[in-house]
Amino acid sequence: MNIAIMAHDSKKELMVQFCIAYCGILSRSNLCATGTTGKIVSEATGLKIRTFLSGPQGGFEQIAARLSCNEIDMLLFFRDPMISSDNVNDGTKMLKICDMHGIPVATNIATAEVLIHGLERGDLEWRNILNPKV
Ligand code: PGA
Repeated sequence: MNIAIMAHDSKKELMVQFCIAYCGILSRSNLCATGTTGKIVSEATGLKIRTFLSGPQGGFEQIAARLSCNEIDMLLFFRDPMISSDNVNDGTKMLKICDMHGIPVATNIATAEVLIHGLERGDLEWRNILNPKV
């Protein structure tokens, strides 16, 4: 299972707390993240995370490309709802790609917890069947 994580600045600390809480489950997946999110989460948790560029510097596009190629099975993107919808980094494009490809996505901690519990229970095994990994 390949999981991408990212968080807008006001949600980064929440993402850190989430990843600390679910470190055991997350450690069984391949993790990737936008640059700053990945750095602070890996420092706080010890999780091995492949970090891309910082979101606004191209990290969003790097993750969007992998979502489009079905190389990511779940997206945890803690968004700041106060970010203007005019801002290209508001996440709309990322959510559109997830909807196009049927990729489970959480934009807040409550939904992320549901997805993580589903992952632990094996509810998302269909992603492995659709997208087998070596
Ligand atoms: P970052 O990207 O993790 O590199 O900060 C996400 C964002 O800018 O919101």
